[in-house]
Amino acid sequence: MEDLLSLKGIGPKTLKVLNRLGITSINDLIQYYPFRFEIIERSKVSSLNDGDKIIIDGVVENIPSVIYIKKNMNKMTFRLGTNNGIYPITIFNRAFLKSKLKVGQEVTIIGKYDKRHSSITASDIKLMLLPNYPIIEPIYHTVEGISSRQLSDYIHNVLNSDYVVNSYIPEHLKDKYHLMDKDSSIREIHTPSTKERLQLAINTLKYEELFLFMLKMHKLRQNKEHLLGIERNINIEDLDSIIAKLPFTLTIDQVKCLKTIINDLNSNHKMNRLLQGDVGSGKTIIAFLSLYANYLSGYQGSFMAPTEILAKQHYQKMVSMFKDSDINIALLTGKLKVSDKKKIYEKLINGKIDVLIGTHALFSEGVIYDNLGLVITDEQHRFGVNQRAMLNNKGNNPDILYLSATPIPRTYAITLYGDMDISSIKTVPSGRKEVTTIIKTKEEIKDILRLMHEQLKLHHQIYVIAPLIEDNESEVENVYALENNFNKALGKISKIGVLHGKMSLEDKDEVMNKFKNNDIQILISTTVIEVGVDVANATMIVIFNSERFGLSQLHQLRGRVGRNSLDSYCILVGDTNNKRLNILVNNNDGFKISEADFKMRGSGDLFGIRQSGDMNFKLANIKEDFNIILCAKEDSNNFFNSDDYYLPEYQHIHNLIESDMVLN
Ligand code: ADP
Ligand code: MG
Repeated sequence: MEDLLSLKGIGPKTLKVLNRLGITSINDLIQYYPFRFEIIERSKVSSLNDGDKIIIDGVVENIPSVIYIKKNMNKMTFRLGTNNGIYPITIFNRAFLKSKLKVGQEVTIIGKYDKRHSSITASDIKLMLLPNYPIIEPIYHTVEGISSRQLSDYIHNVLNSDYVVNSYIPEHLKDKYHLMDKDSSIREIHTPSTKERLQLAINTLKYEELFLFMLKMHKLRQNKEHLLGIERNINIEDLDSIIAKLPFTLTIDQVKCLKTIINDLNSNHKMNRLLQGDVGSGKTIIAFLSLYANYLSGYQGSFMAPTEILAKQHYQKMVSMFKDSDINIALLTGKLKVSDKKKIYEKLINGKIDVLIGTHALFSEGVIYDNLGLVITDEQHRFGVNQRAMLNNKGNNPDILYLSATPIPRTYAITLYGDMDISSIKTVPSGRKEVTTIIKTKEEIKDILRLMHEQLKLHHQIYVIAPLIEDNESEVENVYALENNFNKALGKISKIGVLHGKMSLEDKDEVMNKFKNNDIQILISTTVIEVGVDVANATMIVIFNSERFGLSQLHQLRGRVGRNSLDSYCILVGDTNNKRLNILVNNNDGFKISEADFKMRGSGDLFGIRQSGDMNFKLANIKEDFNIILCAKEDSNNFFNSDDYYLPEYQHIHNLIESDMVLN
């Protein structure tokens, strides 16, 4: 953190905002890559319509005049002389530029064209004429309190300093693929020169990322081979009385997986198993039963969820499922009061807690188990390979089970989770209705509102999903704008709540509880809702900008509804002809959907929007970049097994792999 504060323009306040973006060091900052690039070319004014984006260069014709509208708002106007005539320019909050905008100054204006008045409302002014080639501008994901532009400035500051970037690609591999220097790639991705060089930079960075990932996988596998686990003697019949009390019978796959897990627990090898199954296939019950079996054999267990909401939900469910048993279950989340945390720590080390459920707070330093025997992590794809390594290092070689609702095809699974055994629940419990999925365009909002209205009249509840929290990219919906609009349209017959990842835990909890208790009928949310949340009375989910999400992610979101025998609906707002979206319309099987998703990995459209989701890579995408993954896998394997790995010149690679395994 210290190092960030040493940068020009970054004070404690900005530091906080940067932290929210996951940036805690200069190293993080320069690896905070743009999520897309904008190509800036001079507009042909004659072909522009009213309201179109315009990019035009020219010279300042008169001294700009500035008026102050409110405390935080000013408006500057001047005339721009161009090859096509003179245009009045208006720009807000750039009064500080006034001294630079002398008469005759060459500038490029980016803004919106007002055809009727032949004027321009500018969003940006660059103090130069456009060159003959297009400018490629990096655009960064941001949050409130920082603009893409500011981020870019901070990054430039670092690039212009003597900061040294570590490179982790061995020289012979760099040569093999004609990759760029690390330093040049970092510069190129933040200040692109040409499309070709930018692509090479991106490929280089992706390759490095995947190469390191694969090295870690080899390391994990190597560790695993040497690991002995806890040997125990659990009888699956010991679980019968609990299973008999369930309000349903377990599916064949559930029973099969449970047996496999019990076998793993009993064997003297350390379990390292991935349990994958579609949303709603009943993985959670298997997790609870495994934790119970582990408890019966005399060990503590922990269950880690990716969000506080989920952790709490699991906790409540497990407590109620085992209310007649002596098992002690506790909930630990990051936001707990220090004194409450301390109580939990104490009970834990004294063995008075049998199962600890929580977020990754479970693995913070203060958490010391008496005899940890089983660790389960839910929605494992949310956690990176480093976290996997961290779990491996906690306690006395506990058995580890990962749950994932993003089933991935076997070839991919073997590569990406090569260090694990894999079990699958392929059948969803019977008696569930399929969710009816339809695509509606944004223009059909009236239809959408009508469908929502129908559900509300039946006293059912609705999820609405938007990609963003607040507006920083105008063509994309954000939760607060939607809240406004839905309040106008449906506010009379429903209460509306908002949920997103930047809210405090208390606020999130409150909203979630209100939704669970039907005090709120429409919940507008970002994808924090994606995983596991269970509200049976919700029968509709409306997903805006659905093209922006991965298919598996959409399928997960859809899994929030259709949780009982009521008719349920998923409305994907997007292009009716979109191939990917239509896969969802025609398909309800998560395995098939993910297979299709993988097959469709496109050309890796550089200027498109990267898919969010499955693995926590900064740049690489496991679908689009599978070829790079395969290369990285082979190369890293050879490297890892060669003596070169231990050469002094590769010490830093060695160190990184080893240190990640312990620290992160
Ligand atoms: P997952 O974690 O795989 O998404 P859950 O474990 O949350 O799925 O299960 C979804 C719902 O199905 C829960 O309400 C659970 O109680 C129920 N359920 C689990 N197993 C069965 C089963 N065999 N038959 C009927 N319902 C089941
Ligand atoms: Mg689950």
